[in-house]
Amino acid sequence: MKKTKVIATIGPASKDENVLKALISNGMDIARINMTHSDYQFAEDIIKKIRKIDKELNKNTGILIDLKGPDIIVNTFEGGTAYFNTGDKIRIYDDPCLVGDSTKFSVSYNNFVRDVKTNTTIKLNDGLIELLVLEKGVDYLLCEVKVGGFIEDHKGVNVINRKLNVPFLSKKDKEDILFADRIEADFLALSFVSNYEDVLEVYDHLIDIKNDRLAIIAKIENESAVEDLDNIISNSDGIMIARGDLGVELPMERVPGIQKKIINKCHMEGKFSIVATEMMSSMENTNRPTRAEVSDVANAILDGIDVVMLSGETTVGKYPVETLETMVKIIEQTEKEVDYYKFIDQAMRTENEDITGTIAYSVVMSADKMKAKLIMTPTMTGYTAKKISRFRPSCPIIALSPDEKTIKNLNIYYGVYPILISKITTFDKILEKINEVAKSYDLVKDDKYIITGGYPFNDVKKTNFMKIEEMR
Ligand code: PGA
Ligand code: MN
Repeated sequence: MKKTKVIATIGPASKDENVLKALISNGMDIARINMTHSDYQFAEDIIKKIRKIDKELNKNTGILIDLKGPDIIVNTFEGGTAYFNTGDKIRIYDDPCLVGDSTKFSVSYNNFVRDVKTNTTIKLNDGLIELLVLEKGVDYLLCEVKVGGFIEDHKGVNVINRKLNVPFLSKKDKEDILFADRIEADFLALSFVSNYEDVLEVYDHLIDIKNDRLAIIAKIENESAVEDLDNIISNSDGIMIARGDLGVELPMERVPGIQKKIINKCHMEGKFSIVATEMMSSMENTNRPTRAEVSDVANAILDGIDVVMLSGETTVGKYPVETLETMVKIIEQTEKEVDYYKFIDQAMRTENEDITGTIAYSVVMSADKMKAKLIMTPTMTGYTAKKISRFRPSCPIIALSPDEKTIKNLNIYYGVYPILISKITTFDKILEKINEVAKSYDLVKDDKYIITGGYPFNDVKKTNFMKIEEMR
């Protein structure tokens, strides 16, 4: 069983039931739906299919709704495409009805002309095209093409070092959050947060709509988020290193260093981190990755990432399932080579000196010493399982909970495999259940497994026992 979790983004290449089924059975833990490119009908259809497959395969695939945020894209062009020549002057309009060509185009954000200042750099199409704003007209921005190139409908627009004068959550984002609430999604990813106050705005909104289910993932994809990193990490449930936009907004060569820093800070704070974008992108067109991509996935794992993500590879690529299978092979091999002591040590140094921290440490050290096959933990809120995950045990953590919300949430944590059980009553009953579940994991005679948790079960956030069992 791999321990690093995998998010796959769902799109046209993966929307069919047979593809979704292959993704779920081959190691996709979380399905991401990107609201920049999906409508509710598409999203709802995918979620229905996933829940049906989950039932058949006894899985708990998490659903991640990725908000559009202040993410801007170009509208359409005549014939779907245009070419901007270096040195030419072009105009950008707000008007969504305007169809673009090589002299003008419009964008998806309707206060663009008002908010963008002269002398600002604007990048298009993943940063391939660069424009400089020369002056503001009544309803347009006059720009010079600094670096020309091809553009197509709906490609991304990055305004470098922008600060738009709007609340973080747009009307569309609020509608998308209501949708996420209604379909009981598990994770909400926030695109283009600028600082921790953006994250708090979303938490407040979730309180207003009485949603205590959605875990918040802040996407780090611009300079201001990098500057407010510590506060953003401590105010979110997890972080996504959104290398696509980050590598456009900042010089690309800064991204690897920022990635390592985020992984490390998240581990010390006990938050999960996700590395996203172009991990295996050559597999959009060919059936094997480059050596550099294999190294990219492996190095993220060696650095202590919790989750790796696929985007274009599974939304529009030719080989969605093969890409996932290849990624899982890299994960499984690399996990044999992780320096687990490094993480145990770091977790211990930053863990509270309380009973839970001490037990989590002892569990993971004992599991390693005895080459235990599993760590099993009954949990109400997921607290114990998350604590242990942070210590990076070399064996999987099986978390048993009667709470469906907890189960889905735990799915994103390194090494944690959640299982839904009926209500926990007595200590003996839960031990009986755990021993029964352990048997289903192909353990042979004398194999060891460790049971840990908090007793009494109704006292949340208290891990206070550890028991070592041997398969009979
Ligand atoms: P996106 O975010 O795929 O929603 O743009 C990830 C990234 O920018 O890397
Ligand atoms: Mn992005």
